[in-house]
Parts: sequence; C-alpha cells; structure tokens
Amino acid sequence: MKSGLKGPYRLTADGIDAAILEAEKGVFALGHEDYEGRFRIAHVGRSDLDLRKALRELIGTSASFKYLETPNDRETFEAHCELFHKFKPPGNHLHPDRPKGTNWVCPRCMALQNR
Ligand SMILES: [Zn+2]
Repeated sequence: MKSGLKGPYRLTADGIDAAILEAEKGVFALGHEDYEGRFRIAHVGRSDLDLRKALRELIGTSASFKYLETPNDRETFEAHCELFHKFKPPGNHLHPDRPKGTNWVCPRCMALQNR
C-alpha cells in the first residue's frame, strides 16, 4: 500500500537533517523496513510548525521515517487523517486531533474531534 510519503530515512539527528532542510509543516510516518524492503508503519503524526523538531523528539522510537511537507494547516490535518485511516498504525490509538481553534472535520469519517 503506497503512502505517498518521501523516504524512508533513518530516524537519527543526521538522518532528519539530511532529509528535511528547513522548517516545514507536514505529516510523517515512523516505522521500519521489513525483510522484503517494505516500509512497515508503526505510528503516524504531523507537525503544524516544524517537522524536524517533531521528529527529533521521536528519535529512538523507530528505525526510520517517511514524511511529506504540506502547504497549509488544513492539508496537514487532512493528510494526517488519511494516513491514520489508511494504515491503522498500531502506535496510534486515538484519532488525530484537529488543530486548536478550528472546526475542521476528518474527510474520512466526518468525526468531530476535541469535543
Ligand atoms: Zn477520521
């Protein structure tokens, strides 16, 4: 199943800095490559400010990451929801929260979050 994300890259300080050159908002998936070279997603997340900062805080939790930068907060939120529904990552128990101060709903399930 294709995620549409770039990578994988090593989830290390050097790996993050080599992959993402400037502060970008976007979504990411953490995981590892299996023996057939397929990327197994364990967890998905997003950053509305700086992907690099969010990923640095997760070093040690997975071997590798993939990511995709997004142009605005709405697309970041919707991409996060899509990844959550498409891959049902074992590390994500809760549906992604919508950004504070918005009434955006998930395009997949139309669920109201943050109630
Ligand atoms: Zn949803």
